[in-house]
Amino acid sequence: MTFSPEVLERLSLVPGLRVLPGAELRHHTRFQLGGPCWFLADAETPEAFQTAYQTLSAAHIPWTSIGHGTNLIVNDAGYPGAILRYSAAQKTVSHTIISVHAGAELNDLVDFANANSLAGLESMAGIPGWVGGAIYGNAGAYGQSIHQRIESVEFFDGAAVRVWSNEECGFRYRHSRFKENKALQILSAQLRFEPGNRQILLEKSKNIRATRDAKFPPAMPCAGSIFKNFLLKDLPEKARAAVPPEKIIEGKVPAGWFLEQIGARGMQVGGIRVADYHANLIYNTGTGTTADLLTLIATLKNGARHQFNLSLEEEVQYLGFA
Ligand SMILES: Cc1cc2nc3c(=O)[nH]c(=O)nc-3n(C[C@H](O)[C@H](O)[C@H](O)COP(=O)(O)OP(=O)(O)OC[C@H]3O[C@@H](n4cnc5c(N)ncnc54)[C@H](O)[C@@H]3O)c2cc1C
Repeated sequence: MTFSPEVLERLSLVPGLRVLPGAELRHHTRFQLGGPCWFLADAETPEAFQTAYQTLSAAHIPWTSIGHGTNLIVNDAGYPGAILRYSAAQKTVSHTIISVHAGAELNDLVDFANANSLAGLESMAGIPGWVGGAIYGNAGAYGQSIHQRIESVEFFDGAAVRVWSNEECGFRYRHSRFKENKALQILSAQLRFEPGNRQILLEKSKNIRATRDAKFPPAMPCAGSIFKNFLLKDLPEKARAAVPPEKIIEGKVPAGWFLEQIGARGMQVGGIRVADYHANLIYNTGTGTTADLLTLIATLKNGARHQFNLSLEEEVQYLGFA
């Protein structure tokens, strides 16, 4: 299956849409892995996004969306279809409410909230990616997660623009209803903050960024933590019995602890390696392929199943796999 060049021509005339034919996805993912797509279309306005969506649907072109590509594993063969990105990034503030478009950098949103003396996202400083991806996966760190701030989310459901309240978004740990239905595309959100002290917020974000930069060097090709942490109550008996009490934090057990026990640190397949200092951090040494990465992930999952009867679940999202 392929697509007619007329579609590309039509899309290139849509105001606010930038089309990149044959884009190599390794240039659009932090892991620097993944082959080509048919074309990548960047929509800077909701209208451009909807027109692109309708054009692709009418032409029966398979599509999927990405944000900043910081949480993706893309097939070495790429994606046989179009990739859509909604890159509008405006932010406005009114009292304790910030309205933000999905293509804004999460880090810029944190800085904007801090600068306006609004507390509630300062601990999420340093998480890469865009706001849409953060809402999709309910990103969080150091005791804060984005769902705690969300008042409502505006999204396109393929036919119309709709709004869900926080409750309707179905947030839980690293999960939202947007993960259950990939056709729903987040366009913008309203977030409610608490009044805070600007200096204290700025200082906290600065310190957290420094800690994170030491753990995840800014240029490291990776996706952050590969596997989700565990809620203690969800662990199988064999795994729960093995965990030392000091490793249980707020009812959660880091996946990294189990990975350490199976000797994950420093494991390497081809050009893909587990960090020597962090068992849940896999990175591309520069010569890796997605095939190497999949082999390493499978090895780690098998090890955890064998030793702890534990099913490790990926936090990263896969793209281009049937
Ligand atoms: C070094 C490093 C550290 C990290 N640390 C953390 C951390 O501490 N906590 C944490 O939670 N995450 C962390 N992550 C993971 C990642 O940063 C977050 O998941 C981020 O929110 C993903 O945003 P993105 O724009 O890059 O999304 P992408 O990786 O581009 O996409 C991820 C998924 O979101 C979907 N998506 C993206 N935009 C939209 C949209 N507008 N509408 C609907 N679906 C959409 C895509 O289809 C895809 O399935 C880390 C990643 C790295 C590389």
